[in-house]
Amino acid sequence: MLSTLFASSCHEKITNRLYQISLGAVNAFLIDDEGLTLVDTGLPGSTANIFAALWEAGKNPADIKRIILTHLHADHSGNAADIKRQTNARVYAHHIDAPLLEQGISGRPLTLTPGLVNKLIYKLIIKGPITTVAPVAVEEKLSDGDVIPLLGGIQVVHTPGHSAGHVALLLPSEGVLIAADLCSHVLGLAYSTLYEDRTLGRQSILKASDLSFETALFGHGRPLQGQANKQLRAKFE
Ligand SMILES: [Zn+2]
Ligand SMILES: [Zn+2]
Repeated sequence: MLSTLFASSCHEKITNRLYQISLGAVNAFLIDDEGLTLVDTGLPGSTANIFAALWEAGKNPADIKRIILTHLHADHSGNAADIKRQTNARVYAHHIDAPLLEQGISGRPLTLTPGLVNKLIYKLIIKGPITTVAPVAVEEKLSDGDVIPLLGGIQVVHTPGHSAGHVALLLPSEGVLIAADLCSHVLGLAYSTLYEDRTLGRQSILKASDLSFETALFGHGRPLQGQANKQLRAKFE
């Protein structure tokens, strides 16, 4: 279990144009359309692992044109400044998290979700969240309902709770929701370990579950396959 959690990097093809990149305890994603788009960037120091996963998938990191950040936490956005520096990629994030990202602030106060597994994850992996990282300029401030013109239209779904500016991304052409830390799928479908506001987080999960997708991808854990929207609703309703 722990060896899987701490594996350095590998990629998994989700569809012909979408890959999940495992960076040990957290996932990033790669969209292959009009150049490459990275969704999330791992912890600071993850660039070599991400680039290795791209090469392994037959892609050239120099083709990274965009970085979409699902939220401000260090395990998703902490490495964005470094990848931007190396690729000159344009950065996208929700307008509520963007100002903090631009100041290098990687979180607001969080509450631990009850339960033994969450305590364990917190102690073993999180060990107290990183609160400052390298600031990154955000050129594209996103809002709910925005459509990013890739894969025939990626829909931005504002899903606050885990973070006030958390977004999920709906990829209708792929039948996929990149749910990020909306919830997790490590040892089964569950709340994320930490939330700014878990009640709001639950509302966001239900909002997302109204959308149409077969597969959900998470910042932490495995892809959820087969009517994933219905599975989300059944679990959290
Ligand atoms: Zn997070
Ligand atoms: Zn996370």
